[in-house]
Amino acid sequence: MKKSNLLVSSLCALALSTSLYAGHGAHWGYTGHEGPEHWGDLAEAYSMCKMGKSQSPINITKEVSVSTKDLDAIKFGYTTGSVDVINNGHTIQVNIANGSSITVDGKTYALKQFHFHTPSENNIEGKSFPLEAHFVHAAEDGSLAVVGLMFEEGKENEVLKSVWEKMPHKADGKAPLALSAETLNKLLPTAKDYYLFNGSLTTPPCSEGVKWMVLKNYSHISKAQVEEFLHVMHHHNNRPIQPVNARKVIK
Ligand SMILES: [Zn+2]
Repeated sequence: MKKSNLLVSSLCALALSTSLYAGHGAHWGYTGHEGPEHWGDLAEAYSMCKMGKSQSPINITKEVSVSTKDLDAIKFGYTTGSVDVINNGHTIQVNIANGSSITVDGKTYALKQFHFHTPSENNIEGKSFPLEAHFVHAAEDGSLAVVGLMFEEGKENEVLKSVWEKMPHKADGKAPLALSAETLNKLLPTAKDYYLFNGSLTTPPCSEGVKWMVLKNYSHISKAQVEEFLHVMHHHNNRPIQPVNARKVIK
């Protein structure tokens, strides 16, 4: 008991020190009393997790979608490589050297990191995927844009293999990881059409105002690679689907 409490508090400190958008420090997780259904009650700073009306993830369906010809293409400018890979107790996160960005609708967002959830957090037409990557970007004014990429089960993914080889198995781990920009770009599908919607961080403090762009095309991951990730995380790390409410998905 005592040992596990110690472990929990060290995880907590680590999550604070390594999370780009850490909240006010109340420990949270994916299971039991600290699981997603309790996040909004764990700290006042996490109240959006239960009060918010534009929360992520969502199920992207025809019923909530609107088609447009005016959806601006995302201009990817991933020109820098990765620096390191961390296990923050909630996910495996690859940190990116300054200099990579996306531009969409005339606004540029710098790529900070990408990380993984198993199974996927967002669903497409009710379909869950074995893995989803979130590429987290921040504009100069502090606004966030996340690009979601689904992985369907298939052959082994070479880029993920490079990440998995270095990912720390312990929750306070950090390891150097020098993947080139070229390698990182190989993670993305060639066609980058996307679904656009307003949402939130999918982890506490569940802050809203996040621009979500989920790519329509998938990448692939082998069953063994999913199992390896799950083994390191110990449990699923996806927040359940949230109500769409008044939102529309633009596609
Ligand atoms: Zn995420």
